[in-house]
This record gives sequence, structure tokens and C-alpha cells, in this order.
Amino acid sequence: MAVVEKLPLADLRRRHRGPVIGPDDGMAFDAARTTFNGMLDRRPALVTRPLDVNDVVASVSFAAGADLAVAVRGGGHGVAGHCVGDGSLVVDLRLMREVVVDPQARTATCGGGALWEDLDPPCQRHGLATPGGTFGDTGVAGLTLGGGIGHLMGPHGLTLDNLVATKVVTADGAVVHASEEENADLFWALRGGGGNFGVVVEFTFRLHPVGLLLGGLLMYRLEDAHEVFSTFRELTAEAADELVCFAQIFRSAITGDSGTAVSVAYFGDVDEGRSAIRPLTDGIAPIGDGVRAMYYPELQEIFGRMPFGLRNYWSGRFLRDLSDGVIDLTAATFEDPETMGGVLVECLHGAVRRVPQEATAFAGRDASHNATFISTWTDPAEDERRIAATRAYSAALAPWSIGEGYVNYASEMPSEAPDTERMQRLRRIKREYDPENRFRFNHNIAPQ
Ligand SMILES: Cc1cc2nc3c(=O)[nH]c(=O)nc-3n(C[C@H](O)[C@H](O)[C@H](O)COP(=O)(O)OP(=O)(O)OC[C@H]3O[C@@H](n4cnc5c(N)ncnc54)[C@H](O)[C@@H]3O)c2cc1C
Repeated sequence: MAVVEKLPLADLRRRHRGPVIGPDDGMAFDAARTTFNGMLDRRPALVTRPLDVNDVVASVSFAAGADLAVAVRGGGHGVAGHCVGDGSLVVDLRLMREVVVDPQARTATCGGGALWEDLDPPCQRHGLATPGGTFGDTGVAGLTLGGGIGHLMGPHGLTLDNLVATKVVTADGAVVHASEEENADLFWALRGGGGNFGVVVEFTFRLHPVGLLLGGLLMYRLEDAHEVFSTFRELTAEAADELVCFAQIFRSAITGDSGTAVSVAYFGDVDEGRSAIRPLTDGIAPIGDGVRAMYYPELQEIFGRMPFGLRNYWSGRFLRDLSDGVIDLTAATFEDPETMGGVLVECLHGAVRRVPQEATAFAGRDASHNATFISTWTDPAEDERRIAATRAYSAALAPWSIGEGYVNYASEMPSEAPDTERMQRLRRIKREYDPENRFRFNHNIAPQ
């Protein structure tokens, strides 16, 4: 690749102790540019795998000197595949995954490439946890910077509500600390503004005691979708913070399985939890009941894993409420046997809703639910059809939407998103920290 040949690559290789991988490196290069979404085939100019913050500074400084855009890879799980950009320098943080837990202070600090399965177990050894995602192999970084919707959201808020400090390498190669006390504007922007502001090399989270809980999946027939979603709505409208449920309907293009499901997480007495979910177990008859007493690491496995390499397109909206219209639309969409994929509906209640809208840059604070069409398939010939169906469902949610989508689940962001004060403030902070838009492989906030 011509651009890189002209650059003083040898200098970077001397300075950077982690691997520096280029297009001439064959299989290593192809492996390094692979991300979760198999539909994307992007060719960066270079991939660096820093060992520490000095390597990250070397990578970002090199990119600035060579006028390369920087893409940042945390866990590589972003469905939009922004962690690898055509012609970019990819800073791939997979070798920076250390976790340090301070059980007395109830904090955990992890490297910018840590996955949830790196962070959760050492915290749980002390009976502690911070709200994370629901899949162990998702990156802590991308999930936190966009929000963080998970089982602990009711009692303790989003992941980003539990972020207390960060260390960031900015576009000019400076190492900056951001928290409520230091660079508070940057800290605000990092909590919801995605990877727009630099490479976050370290995250420190607040931890909470999380012991034995009631958790698992309830499975129902596809035909029961209407009743399941209505019961889920009524139950969660009145639910205590301790009860967090997500509902989904699915028909898999890969396995052919279909059904409706509700996940249960009750962070309290197990018998009280069973009483709390009675409408879901006695009111409607589940065809599968995996709900039992368990600890948090097991709860983090109830959805299994989604393998890398499948073709993916995801789209959705934050909703004002889970109205009959949304339930009708969702059930009707899956009455069509041609519909493949799943719709996940997450209820945002409890601690999430008590954080003021302006306290962080998260866009969905006023939403009661988040609805997302998750489309996954294998045959490239189906791309157009699957993408169109996903977009159509998501666009049809617009009348019930607060006008925003969840960055972390978006292949593309909804075009009708309003130009709010939040967006204006994000642009100002982007101008201050990244005026040349060096970090542009993300749901981008243009500095101008
Ligand atoms: C199977 C699956 C399950 C999921 N479950 C949940 C869930 O339960 N809850 C939820 O809220 N979300 C969930 N998500 C969405 C997830 O939050 C996003 O995909 C998120 O972007 C993943 O983070 P990552 O670090 O793995 O991604 P990456 O693809 O590595 O990065 C995503 C974005 O973040 C930027 N970025 C990554 N690391 C850094 C860093 N250290 N510094 C600066 N920028 C960085 C990248 O440049 C890119 O723009 C899930 C996604 C998948 C595929």
C-alpha cells in the first residue's frame, strides 16, 4: 500500500514494542482486520497492537505525522465495524486487558481492550460487580462509551453511570485524565459520545455487592408474542429496581428456531424474585423455564455467544413507551414467515431513569424502552433483503420513538435524530480534543 511505504515505519517499529502489522503480512493482516460483522471487508493501512500507553502514544503520533485517520479496536464487537477503517491506522487494544480490583475502595480498573469476561470474574471473586453488557465477549470500551445496557441497570444504572475515571490518549498524542474532577467536559462527552475523543487506555468503575440472584430465560411460542410482550410491559412498569427483564422475539435464519423469550434477573431474595415474576410463569405458560438461583457470572452466559463472521445488520429506536402499536408491529412482523432475525426490547427503569438527562452524553435517558431489530444471516445474496427488512421495522418505530437510536446497536444511526443541545456540546468538545477528526471511525461527531 503506497501510503505506508512512504512513511518512516522503521521508526515506529523501533518505538512500538507491541506488534505492527501491515498489508504485506498476509494471514496476520487478514486476521487483524477481521471484526464481529462478517459483512464488512475493510483494509486498513496499518494495525498496531500496543502493549502499554507509550505504544498508544507512539501509534497516535505516527498517525498524525502520516496524516492517517485512527480507528480504535476494543473488543471488536461493534456491529458497524468502526474499529477497522479503510486506509486507517488501527490501534488494536487486545493486548491491554489487565484488570485491577480494589475491594476496599470498591473500584475496578481495566485496560482499554478488556472484555467483560476479563472484568467480571475478578470482581465477582470479591462478591462485587459493575453494570456491564450481557455477553462476556463484548468489549468494555465500546459498550461503556456508548451507554451500557445490561442486567444490573435497574439497581445501578448504565455502565457509563458507574464510570468514575478514564485515561485517554488524545489526537495530539497527549495523555489526559478525565473524571468529574479533571477535564470534566471530556468526561461528560466520553459517557455517551462513543470513541470520538481519543483512545481510552484505562477505565475505572464503581463496584457494587452482587450475590446470589434469580436469573435465566423463559421461552414461549412465537404465537404467544402478543401476550408475552404485554405481560412484560405490565410487569416492568411496576417493577422494583431489583427486577430487570428483556423481551425478545426471533426466527433464526441459521438454525431455523423461532420463539419469544424473556430474560429474568432479580437481584434480591430468590423466593421474592419468583413471586415477582409470577405473571410471566403463571399467567402465560412458558415452554422452557431456565430461571434458577445463580451467581452473576452465570447470568452473563444466559444468552450464549454470537459468533464472529456472520453477516449482521442492526437498527432500532429508543421508545417513549412500549405502546400497543409497537407490540402489534413487532408481533405482525414475525407473523410473516419470511422475517428472519430478532427484535430485542429492553426496559430502561430504576437507577437509569434517575440520572438527569444532562449529566452524561447518553441520548436515551428519556426513553422507557429500547427496541432493536437484530438481523443475522450467512448468504451474501440475502444482504439487500435482510438490510431492507431491518430498516423498515426500525423506521416504522418512528412514531413512538424519542427520535434517537442507541449508538451501540446501530449499523447506521437514524437519519431523523434531532440537533439537540447535547449534540452541540459534543461538537464543541470534539473541536477541542480532535479538531481534525483524526478519530472518525465511529458514529461520527463532526468537529464543524
Ligand atoms: C453479541 C453482542 C452483544 C451485545 N450486547 C450488548 C449489551 O448487552 N449491552 C449493550 O449496551 N451493548 C451490547 N452490545 C453492543 C456493544 O455495546 C457495542 O457493539 C460496542 O461497541 C462493543 O464494544 P467493543 O469494544 O467490543 O467494540 P469495537 O468494535 O472494538 O468498538 C466499537 C466502537 O468503539 C470505539 N472504541 C473501542 N474501544 C475504544 C477505546 N478503548 N477508546 C476509544 N474508542 C474505542 C471504536 O473505535 C468503535 O467506534 C452487544 C454487541 C454484540 C455484537
